[in-house]
Amino acid sequence: MKSYQFEEYGAPLVENIGENPTASGDEVLVNVTACGVCHSDIHMWEGHFDLGHGKQLDIKAGRELPFTLGHEIVGIVTAVGENVTDVAVGDKRVVFPWIGCDQCNICASGNEHLCNRPRALGINVNGGYTDTLVVPNSKYLLDYGDLSKDLACTYTCSGLTAYGALKKVKSRADGGKLLVIGAGGVGLAAMAIAKSVTNADIYVADIDPEKRQAGLDAGAVAAIDPSDPATFKSFMGMTGGGVNATIDFVGAESSAAFGAKVLAKGGKLVIVGLFGGSFSMPIPMFPIKAMSVEGSYVGSLSEMRELMDLAKAGKLSELAITPRPMAEANATLEDLRAGNIVGRVVLQS
Ligand SMILES: [Zn+2]
Ligand SMILES: [Zn+2]
Repeated sequence: MKSYQFEEYGAPLVENIGENPTASGDEVLVNVTACGVCHSDIHMWEGHFDLGHGKQLDIKAGRELPFTLGHEIVGIVTAVGENVTDVAVGDKRVVFPWIGCDQCNICASGNEHLCNRPRALGINVNGGYTDTLVVPNSKYLLDYGDLSKDLACTYTCSGLTAYGALKKVKSRADGGKLLVIGAGGVGLAAMAIAKSVTNADIYVADIDPEKRQAGLDAGAVAAIDPSDPATFKSFMGMTGGGVNATIDFVGAESSAAFGAKVLAKGGKLVIVGLFGGSFSMPIPMFPIKAMSVEGSYVGSLSEMRELMDLAKAGKLSELAITPRPMAEANATLEDLRAGNIVGRVVLQS
């Protein structure tokens, strides 16, 4: 098997040839046909998150080097272990990457993506910048029907993250108003999915006028600039007293504070973005506004199944995707880090 791996954190990816793996028991061997390149791959590669103010969060623990990145994976089944009955050689599948230990209470509750002993592909264990991957159980393989493989793989990360957050606000937002903060990749993925999840009126906040326009093009009722001091008052007027839910895809001090401030009574703020900083709020505001704050991290396997059903039913809009050969994995990461990539790159093997 051929993989593109880093041998030291931050060092260029190199092509490594390894022994071809086999599948036994519950395992499935997948010939990787495409793998999306995600912005979080850069953090894994560098081994840290930037928390701002010169602080870094080290994320090197538990990862063996050399390491294969890639958590947005599609492929064709090439072999199955003796216990596998629900997929067969030749099946095309998208791979749910947020795999847990499959033994703890969290995993048993269906929240493998929150497991404390994660085996997430391309995050904790080798991922999809390769031609061959062993998936520990066929339950992590999902049919993507007639969708293009390049589109299907992107749903495992930005699509699932957006969907998981939307599910958390649905009960508050239905019949009301929802604010999406940040019209970047995940925010726009949320806009593409939102209409299938909730009938709320959706507003977009972004400090960048081009992204506000992208939010309007994606169906927002209005787009606002949260950095303008006049916006709070006008937005409260426009919404008749605030929104029922906010999803913050930025996760900065200013965005989370704005998202909480514009909540109507009984509203909920869901924080997805990892930009950094801290959140503070006068404690009496929680009971007085009966408000809640919740974090959301990617999504569960059952949410992934729901999302693929929506996608296969043609309910989600398309994303701009640029295919590149897998051999350009390193150049692609470099380009992404330098900010030279518009849309998503999906590596082809
Ligand atoms: Zn990702
Ligand atoms: Zn677990």
